[in-house]
Amino acid sequence: MDKLSPARRSWNMSRIQSRNTKPEILVRSMLHRLGYRFRIHMQGLPGQPDIVLRRHLAIILVHGCFWHRHKGCKLAYTPKSRLEFWERKFDENIRRDEEVMRELVKMGWRVLTIWECQITDPKELQDRLIHFMKEEQE
Ligand SMILES: [Zn+2]
Repeated sequence: MDKLSPARRSWNMSRIQSRNTKPEILVRSMLHRLGYRFRIHMQGLPGQPDIVLRRHLAIILVHGCFWHRHKGCKLAYTPKSRLEFWERKFDENIRRDEEVMRELVKMGWRVLTIWECQITDPKELQDRLIHFMKEEQE
């Protein structure tokens, strides 16, 4: 009945939980204000990337620090109970993120990862986006 493997399903669950988050929406509206057109959660690309700027061959991933395990970040804490469960889940997420990144880069996409904890200063976020989008022209 259920064709998804447990690993795949839990990955999908974590993706669903990390969709349309506040940080993601902030990045989207900032890009919009800068005049960029993009698609979101694009099917048919590895990992269904959060933000895809096809004409620019650019992808922006907005990562929740907890699910995607931002290294050294206080938001990426490990729950104290069911330690094994969480560690397995986190390992899965990290491996999956690395795989997605490798595939996207191989396909010729430029990828910018923005962590949720980095979205505190709108000006800084804007500078970062502008910088990333300008790199293609070099
Ligand atoms: Zn973080």
